[in-house]
Parts: sequence; C-alpha cells; structure tokens
Amino acid sequence: MDVTLRCPRCATAPANLVRDGHYYRADDSKSIQRYQCKDCGKKFSSATHNPAYRQKKRRINSTVRFCLASNMCQRDIAEIVGVDVKTVRSRLVWQAKLSRVKNKLYLQAYLDEYGPIDTVQFDDLVTFEHTKMKPITVPMAVVDGERIPLGFNVASIPAFGLLAAKSREKYGPRVDDSQAAREAVFQELSTVLPPDVRFKTDGHSHYKVLIKQYFPNATHEIFISDRGAVVGQGELKKTRFDELFSINHTFATVRAKINRLNRRTWCTTKDPERLADHIDVFIDVFCDRLKKLSSSVNGLRRQAFVKAIS
Ligand SMILES: [Zn+2]
Repeated sequence: MDVTLRCPRCATAPANLVRDGHYYRADDSKSIQRYQCKDCGKKFSSATHNPAYRQKKRRINSTVRFCLASNMCQRDIAEIVGVDVKTVRSRLVWQAKLSRVKNKLYLQAYLDEYGPIDTVQFDDLVTFEHTKMKPITVPMAVVDGERIPLGFNVASIPAFGLLAAKSREKYGPRVDDSQAAREAVFQELSTVLPPDVRFKTDGHSHYKVLIKQYFPNATHEIFISDRGAVVGQGELKKTRFDELFSINHTFATVRAKINRLNRRTWCTTKDPERLADHIDVFIDVFCDRLKKLSSSVNGLRRQAFVKAIS
C-alpha cells in the first residue's frame, strides 16, 4: 500500500487502512482502488487526493495545458480536445492553481541547486483588457541571462496618450493599481533574493523607490531603452546590445505564446485575473521546456540543474 496514503477524515496511518475493492472509472478507463479506514470507517479511493478528483474529461488536461502556452485560443483548444469552450475556461483556472504551486517548487529547486541569484531584470509589460482604452500592466522579474521568471502581477492602469481623454469619457476614471501590484512582486522577491542582489531596469521612477525600500543594500543599474528601429518589433529591438535582453525576450515570448497577449489579436483579456492564470500556466510549460532544452545544450548551468530536479 502507498505509504503516503491518508484517511481524508482522520488522517490515520496507512497501517489502519484496508483495501475495499475497485471501481471502474469510465472517464479514463482506469480501475481505481478503494480503501476503508479502520479507525473512523470512512471510505475513499486512491483518486480522492488527486488534483483532478471529481473531474470529468481528465484526459484533456495535459493537452489543454500545452495548448494554452502555445498561442492557441480557447475556442480552438475546445474543438481539438472535443469539449465545450466553458470546460476549457474552467480548466484554465484549475491548471493555473496547480502551475502556481509547481512554479514555486521549480524556483526553490533552482535556488537549492545554485544558491542565491546575483542579478535580476525587472520591467512592466503593458497590455489591455477588452479595449486599448482599458490598459493593464504586468510587472515581472526574471533571472538575468537565464530568463527564469521570479514573480509577476497584473494591475489595471489608466489609459495614457491619445486615448486617455476618450477612455475617461467612455468608461469613467480608471484606477491605477500598478504601484500596489509592483509592491506585491517586490514583497515576494524579498523572500527569494539575497539583500545584496543586483537589479537591472529601465528608468521608471517607481522601480528606484521599491528597490531602495525592499533591497537597501542592492545595486541598481538603469538602462535607458531605445526606440524600436523597425515597426512591430515590440520588446525585441535590434539596435545595439540590449542590457535588458532577458526581460525583453521574456516579454516577447509571452506575447508570442499567450494568444491574448499577441499584438493585434481579437482574443483579448476579459478578466485580469484570468490573464494572471494564463501567465502562470505559461511559466509552468516554459520551465518544463527549459528542462528539456537543457539536455541538448552543452555547458549550460541549466543542464546540471535539470539533473538535480528531474
Ligand atoms: Zn479515518
């Protein structure tokens, strides 16, 4: 018997559990072992503690997870796996919860293997919900050179530039949550980064304040970003060596892999919380890809890391 198995009611030791027959789970054609607790009489099964407990269509989970991080819209994913689009929508929320836990473990395993992170790049990705008149910002931190995401958040910001007046007229004043959202990221960072870490950012004034507040002993290097030389390049501008390449490349990747972040898409975010879910699923798949990639790339720090956690 599985030694980690516990009674869901009284959490008694596995020695006090008895096998209690099987049932056939039609959803994925599996035979599931049932158990009974000798202490409290509770009956349960080996599926009780599974994250997919009581789900129908658990077969679609891995495909949905992969497709969500491969620039596919929810309607196409629904068609491919043969479910309603509402199922895909709720599976995104479910998957994000799992991915969030997994992403934390990934980061912890990375820190255990390599020790403290010495340099971090931080920036905001700006996107919108429903219309460009309702912009949202995504502050994010990644490991310099390795692009491993360390934390992010999603916040609404008021419309800016030419759309500002029109947006106020049509949708009223829009709250600016960006400072609080950035602060939450820094709060999280302060638990994983050493106090003498080095930050690389652009000239945003709020970054300076946060770094001083949360990392008074940190080094802060500021790089003023160029304007793009070619229209449509977005974060990846090929003008000269980019000191903020890691964070810019991460932003370019999420724009390419999360369909609602594509430039000129009609798959827009309707709920900022779902965008956060979607990014968490992306990070999960991205970190898995890093693990696979590292087996074919020589001499990378990641390679040993992969051995350590796989
Ligand atoms: Zn029990």
